[in-house]
Amino acid sequence: MTDFTQPSSSSILRPDFSAEDSSITTGTGSGTRLVLCPAHRRKLESLAEMSYPFEACGVLAGRLENGEVRVRKVWSARNVGRRVHDRFRLDPEDFLAADRLARERGMEILGIWHSHPNRPAVPSRVDLEEAWDGYSYLILGIDPWGQVDFRSWRRDALRDPSGGAASVMDEEPVVFEDDDPLAAALEKAAPSH
Ligand SMILES: [Zn+2]
Repeated sequence: MTDFTQPSSSSILRPDFSAEDSSITTGTGSGTRLVLCPAHRRKLESLAEMSYPFEACGVLAGRLENGEVRVRKVWSARNVGRRVHDRFRLDPEDFLAADRLARERGMEILGIWHSHPNRPAVPSRVDLEEAWDGYSYLILGIDPWGQVDFRSWRRDALRDPSGGAASVMDEEPVVFEDDDPLAAALEKAAPSH
């Protein structure tokens, strides 16, 4: 049996690189699914492509119905972070504008999307720490050839396996379904940045 115990001095002094972006705890599934229409997919792919190699971000709005996170509107927002190659900070003004527009249309903010240039569509440590409960976090992993991988996550503070401040991200399936004409009309009518 290998002894993994570290001398206490080195474990205190050594920075914990394992806590950096790549390794977060993922849960067993959110019990929800994120439903977008194919037009949203094309829009998100092109936004991620245009921002490459920097992170793009934005807001998802629609309705939560019977465990289905039904997206009716996809907005892009400015990334006002200082490390835009591997972080995003969604412009608070853009978020508030999206929230107002959503309410005016009888929708609610369902989540946040952002891209991961040259990285998998898995939440980073920072993504996890900054996530809010009850939101979907759609991540678009985009490679140098423009291939986009869509995965969505929800923070679950209640099922924290460590009992500490950290939480887990549960994955929710991403489904692309042709939607009713209403969604297409909303997509055309609403302004975006
Ligand atoms: Zn991220």
